Amino acid sequence: MEKSFLIKPMLDEIYPVIDYGKGVYLYDMEGKKYLDAASGAVTANIGHGVLEIIEAMEEQAKKVSFVYRSQFTSEAAEKLAKKIADWMPGDLNWSFFVNSGSEATETAMKMAIQYWQEQGILTKTKVLSRWVSYHGITLGALSMSGHTGRRARFVPLLEDFPVINPPYCYRCPYNLEAPACGYACANELEMAIKRIGADQIAAFIAEPVIGAAGGAIAPPKDYFKTIKKICEDNNILFIADEVMTGFGRTGTVLACEQWDVIPDIVAFGKGMGAGYAPIAAAVASEKVMAPILAGTKSVMSGHTLSANPQSCAVSLAVLEYLEKNVIIKEVESKGIFLKNQLEKLKEQFSFIGDVRGKGLLLGIEFVEDQETKTPFPRKAFITQKVVRIAMEKGLLVYPAGAGIDGVNGDAIIISPPLTITEKEIENLLLLVKETLAAFSNQIN
Ligand code: PLP
Repeated sequence: MEKSFLIKPMLDEIYPVIDYGKGVYLYDMEGKKYLDAASGAVTANIGHGVLEIIEAMEEQAKKVSFVYRSQFTSEAAEKLAKKIADWMPGDLNWSFFVNSGSEATETAMKMAIQYWQEQGILTKTKVLSRWVSYHGITLGALSMSGHTGRRARFVPLLEDFPVINPPYCYRCPYNLEAPACGYACANELEMAIKRIGADQIAAFIAEPVIGAAGGAIAPPKDYFKTIKKICEDNNILFIADEVMTGFGRTGTVLACEQWDVIPDIVAFGKGMGAGYAPIAAAVASEKVMAPILAGTKSVMSGHTLSANPQSCAVSLAVLEYLEKNVIIKEVESKGIFLKNQLEKLKEQFSFIGDVRGKGLLLGIEFVEDQETKTPFPRKAFITQKVVRIAMEKGLLVYPAGAGIDGVNGDAIIISPPLTITEKEIENLLLLVKETLAAFSNQIN
């Protein structure tokens, strides 16, 4: 192969070259077929090669690909914003379009700070978050992320934003069980606010289901209700990072709906463009926008490619596709079936510690000892091994962090396109079993 000048995640590895994708499958140049059980990075929510989306992109490109948001708006951006407002619960009506999930969470953070500034409150600038969380790779988003591995090299450059314990029931920081625990990890937020001072805090940010940092950790029933109440009681905005969960991944448009809460601001990404175009958004409620509309009348953020007409047309087509094919409604039953089948593998493979998640965002945590939940040693590179074996077998799974710091643990995420059929789920399960059997042989 010719020398490559492309900076890839691991510079000393050879990556297969993908030729094309169709539905839940990707095909490389050698003709090898991969079942994309990760949707890339929990992104290709409607599968690969959907003609309607490609046609929508072409149609928009023929009209105009780019207009600058400081000069013009576009039909595509207006229609997308309207569609999102229609789909959102409550009055989450206002969309700020950006290009990546990191930009979306960072825009959400800036909106929250501006919300207080417009009311003359200049001290509320901190954003609280949780350990074992990931909100993006740019420095602002990373400052809000409790992902020790991704932060490590940049800590001196990051804002010192406080973090609380995550609702990681499998490894409860309090050694308790929900609901008897009284949601101690959520109540930690109250303590943190008291210590830091509500007058310093703009918002609290959380992923409804913890993704990359924890391997699909879904909180217990009343967790988010407790969090939202603490935020309201203390005059702090609640930002939901739905970059991974948004637009149907867990079975509802917003994952937050499943915990009966409506956030003040939501960050979307990934599934919003389903991989067909880079598009993401920070979506704010009327409450958040009110002082801005009455004040400076401008949200202080923006990128050259914000609200790009082509990306907006793609996202609109993706949402219409989800709607027309009634895809989100079926996610719950598909997810329950898949999760139950994965659960059964615990008996066969003693290294499966936990099977968890919501809808089609599922995680498997691997442990050395099921009884004691002892993680494998770091140097064993368990996650990487499982991901590699799966790939050899033609199965793509997403490597995630796990463990109390999101680093000293091993997990994979299984998150196929929401369009996956029953038969394809059976095939997925077969490949998972083959992968785990081969892995079992390697470690025994
Ligand atoms: N927030 C969450 C919950 C994510 O999972 C990710 C990416 O994995 C991001 C933010 C950052 O999104 P992006 O990689 O598009 O910048």
